[in-house]
Amino acid sequence: MMTLRCRHRPHRSPLLCFWLVLLLVVIAVLFMDPLFRDASRHAAIARHAPTAGHRWPAPADLELLVDSRDQGGEGGFRAPAFLRDDQLLVAPSSAPAERRGSGVAARDGRRRGEVEPRAGLSSLAGKAAGRATTSGEAAARRRAFDEAISEGISFHRRPPESRPAACLSQQYNTSLPTATVVVCFHDEAWSTLLRTIHSVLDTAPARHLREVLLVDDCSERGHLKTPLSKYVSKLKGVRLIRSARRLGVVGCRVLGAARALGDVLVFLDSHCECQQGWLEPLLERIAGDRSRVVSPVMDVIDGRTFRYNATRDLIRGVFDWKLDFHWEVLPKQKDPLKTVEPIRSPALAGVLAIDRQFFQKIGAYDPGMVLWGVENIELSIRVWLCGGSMEVIPCSRVGHLEQFHPSFTLPDDDTVEKNKIRVAETWLDAYKNIFYKRNTVAFFIWQSESSNCTERVKLQKMLGCKNFQWYLSNVHQDLYIPQDRQGFSGELYNVGAGYCADHKKGWAPWDGAMDVSPCSGNGNQHCEMNSLKEVRWGPMGQLCFDAKGDRVVLSQCPPKQQTLTRLQWSILKNGQIVHLLTEKCIEAVKTERSPGAEKVAHSDWGKRANGKEAEEGLFLRPCSSDPRQQWHFEQLVDPRRS
Ligand code: UDP
Ligand code: MN
Repeated sequence: MMTLRCRHRPHRSPLLCFWLVLLLVVIAVLFMDPLFRDASRHAAIARHAPTAGHRWPAPADLELLVDSRDQGGEGGFRAPAFLRDDQLLVAPSSAPAERRGSGVAARDGRRRGEVEPRAGLSSLAGKAAGRATTSGEAAARRRAFDEAISEGISFHRRPPESRPAACLSQQYNTSLPTATVVVCFHDEAWSTLLRTIHSVLDTAPARHLREVLLVDDCSERGHLKTPLSKYVSKLKGVRLIRSARRLGVVGCRVLGAARALGDVLVFLDSHCECQQGWLEPLLERIAGDRSRVVSPVMDVIDGRTFRYNATRDLIRGVFDWKLDFHWEVLPKQKDPLKTVEPIRSPALAGVLAIDRQFFQKIGAYDPGMVLWGVENIELSIRVWLCGGSMEVIPCSRVGHLEQFHPSFTLPDDDTVEKNKIRVAETWLDAYKNIFYKRNTVAFFIWQSESSNCTERVKLQKMLGCKNFQWYLSNVHQDLYIPQDRQGFSGELYNVGAGYCADHKKGWAPWDGAMDVSPCSGNGNQHCEMNSLKEVRWGPMGQLCFDAKGDRVVLSQCPPKQQTLTRLQWSILKNGQIVHLLTEKCIEAVKTERSPGAEKVAHSDWGKRANGKEAEEGLFLRPCSSDPRQQWHFEQLVDPRRS
């Protein structure tokens, strides 16, 4: 803490000294005023913190402190320059208190429908300078889930058992490495954050849990300030670090990792609920091989009802050619013992466990990534290519809250695309062209702005990482590799309709019907006809043009090296696309609509469609010279020429 001394020197006037002190006091009050306001607004929340006759210690987070215990990580890893200590507010949790079972009421006392500022980036500069912003405080915050429902649910609820039966009899080594559970949060709701913390404390064996490390990513919501510090100071084994600058998931986790004391880092979102026995199987896999990165099976907490829905299938993580992450359902295993075996996973989501030193050795997260998005894909590729592996552990279960939309705003619409560009430029080698063709927005950003990945490429060289071809041949062998031949790939434009082929809106893309809709130009309508004469659709390339009666639909493409004549097509010079089995041509059938009328059939299309939307779409018809049977592939971008 800073102390002020007014030294008595004969030539200094005492009056000047008095005014100086007064000025400093005024500045200090102005500076802290929002925090005080905040504290009183949320005094009700603090009442719900564990009490046990304990007087609150002085609010530690009002002091600018740096935790002197840990000065960064081990193994020569230096935290990126943007994580300087002077930007951190650390609230040490020192109060001796009960670790669990505080019997806290679930409700946090926060007023329903309370109006709070949106987590806009424009306000962050003010925050970083130590001023709470008022801009947008009147704006209603869009809720990403139903907080009122969450508030009515105990912090200590026990979700229904979701592990396969064979897990319950598994025994784990008692001398496993210790874990630091890192929970980054930005403006998380009180109830979901507290339920996350308590569920870890309630389920993780004390001997394996070194600490829960909360990292506040410059939150603005009042309950996350003094009330949270007070609450956390009562929990044994929970530490809270605050960043005075918005770091995003990447920076926040890197900060948490640099401060963690456990052997293994477990990254959890701030809205999770852990099942009994979730931690031990993760630690055991890492103890067996420090380069294994492991994930629980993610169960789903419904954002509307807070119902806990168990994931019954065997799943693994994958990403597509647009660099979007998916959980992929694997075929059922008949042998119950096989259902509990670790599942090799080409990628993992955000919740995972990783040996702390291995994490630092392979370069943590990419600090060039902004705020949120695809940092998990970058880590996944790097882990696999640079000496590690990834697994989903069926006996470890963690519930994750499914939100209606992201709970925070990104600086601009291009944030995720820019992060994707970093992945493509660093890791995809020549395969990045496949990505850019399916994500033309990213391509145009890449053309207009340079993204400096040299540090990451250097890291790749230093670590001696393998190339992306190796990843495709050894890790995600099932990912279809598009050929994107000139003239046979791009948006499939219909001359008669002036629209592009698209899957029918409102229908599931798989097993759904094909249609035409306005050409998007963003790569979402990209498809290709490959040398096997399949027309492949979608960013995974796993859906194929198929015929169901006279309708053109999408169905799962056959496995590699197998072709079904039903799925084969050829495009003629005159633009006709012929179905090889029936020798019919694809025709776009579209009902014309006029303003005001619900559906008015002006043309013969309309007559044919008879005003029924179900009769619109792509159909097989006897081949003719009708322009609605004329198609051509429009390649939107050609990354090779840039
Ligand atoms: N988060 C953060 N800073 C950000 C964005 C997110 O600390 O700028 C936190 C967020 O509170 C959550 C975790 O990072 O605990 C992952 O974010 P989110 O849950 O929104 O990601 P998703 O589950 O949608 O992948
Ligand atoms: Mn989340």
